[in-house]
Amino acid sequence: MSTYVTANPTTGVTEREFPGLSDDDVRAVAQRADAGFRQWRDTPVPKRAEVLARTAEIYEKRADELSAAITTEMGKPKAQADGEVQLAADIYRWYAEHGPDLLETETLDPQGADESIVQRRPVGPLVGVMPWNYPYYQVVRFVAPNLMVGNSIILKHASICAASAQLMAEILHEAGAPDDVYINVFASSSQVADLIADPVVQGVSLTGSEKAGASVAQTAAEHLKKSVLELGGSDPFILLDTADMARTTTIAAQARLSNAGQACNSPKRFIVLDELYEEFVEGLVGQFEAVTVGDPADPDTDMGPLSSISARDGVAEQVDTAVKQGATLHTGGKKLDRDGAFYAPTVLTGITSEMDAYAEEIFGPVGMVYRVSSIDEAVELANDVGFGLSGSVWSTDLGKAQQVADRLEVGMAYINEHGTTLPGLPFGGVKRSGYGRELGRWGMGEFVNTRLRRTS
Ligand code: NDP
Repeated sequence: MSTYVTANPTTGVTEREFPGLSDDDVRAVAQRADAGFRQWRDTPVPKRAEVLARTAEIYEKRADELSAAITTEMGKPKAQADGEVQLAADIYRWYAEHGPDLLETETLDPQGADESIVQRRPVGPLVGVMPWNYPYYQVVRFVAPNLMVGNSIILKHASICAASAQLMAEILHEAGAPDDVYINVFASSSQVADLIADPVVQGVSLTGSEKAGASVAQTAAEHLKKSVLELGGSDPFILLDTADMARTTTIAAQARLSNAGQACNSPKRFIVLDELYEEFVEGLVGQFEAVTVGDPADPDTDMGPLSSISARDGVAEQVDTAVKQGATLHTGGKKLDRDGAFYAPTVLTGITSEMDAYAEEIFGPVGMVYRVSSIDEAVELANDVGFGLSGSVWSTDLGKAQQVADRLEVGMAYINEHGTTLPGLPFGGVKRSGYGRELGRWGMGEFVNTRLRRTS
């Protein structure tokens, strides 16, 4: 039996421990999810939408409690935690409002029959495996569309996020989702594999590392279950020109340092044309050095700790290796001399394709700036990594920026913004960033039985 431990990354102190699932419970959980599915699939669509709408209201009512939980367990600064709670409520509300229309039956050309229609039906119990970096948002963007569709859910959250996992389950049940329709489990990786393998389970969605994604997808494939994967990224931010460098570097720093840099779609690589390079690096370093790093519960804090001591040590090792291999360190590059998982905002340049940092994702407050001499070189560099989550192009010439954006091998291309996430927009990547889409109507289409009914 695995234990889930909340160690506050601001202090390093273990706050709570949560007993895990026993192996005997695994089969019982799958059976419960199956019973929940049968009940939920026969619950009328408007009733399911009401549960989602009530869930959104409760998120807003309990916002302070929800926000404080993630500040404690993974160190997100209060304002960002508040924003995440609101985004989660917005996603529930979006599906409550748009879900019924998206589930409408479609009438086809009957082609020789009296009637040919396509019905959108649920597929069954699903397993969700979710990470700690956005403890509510990552879960909700999988749960809201699938509850709307009529699937039931077994949710395995990151082991450092047990308190927020419990809160999410409590709120859904308070809103009217039956107990067996949404089951939170504190499961180990091998128990997750057993759940995926269970005959009643019909699919799995994972957000996290490539390693976890490959493992879960392999188990799903062995048992012929569908998987959706949202993995890492090393997003390019391509600067072609700017009318206001101070604004550009402010936005760049905020985007990179939000959530202490622990976002799959954070702009990790700044690719800057030669003539702007020196000014950009100087501006970015200034912005990184002006950031207030400290207690995430303090409203004046811009950046808190990383999610755990081991996550912080991993980032420190990646930066040390880059410097040993010849990269130039402009600022940061060190753990902060205080308790907790703090790391200084760091700017690196001079990364070459021989260095590990060129191809790796650095999941922390580290900006890498590349100098290029042409747009073609910028695009080639942007695409020369295994990841393909999102990317942005910055220019006052929108037509030119769109042409460059259209050449990026990514699932989401932005012009003059980076990483905007809204309930109605698709989210997902290509290449090693995973497959499938979340949010919007695309997120509602992943685990649906698109069923033909013909009447002659
Ligand atoms: P993981 O991928 O290990 O964790 C994400 C989730 O997957 C957690 O719930 C974890 O559980 C679970 N998990 C891990 N291995 C397995 C497995 N074999 N079978 C089933 N579930 C599994 O991420 P880390 O926390 O280790 O972070 C490492 C790196 O992953 C980061 O540095 C970053 O590069 C990437 N990452 C990407 C995220 C994204 O948003 N795309 C989010 C988080 C991480 P448990 O917590 O119990 O280990």
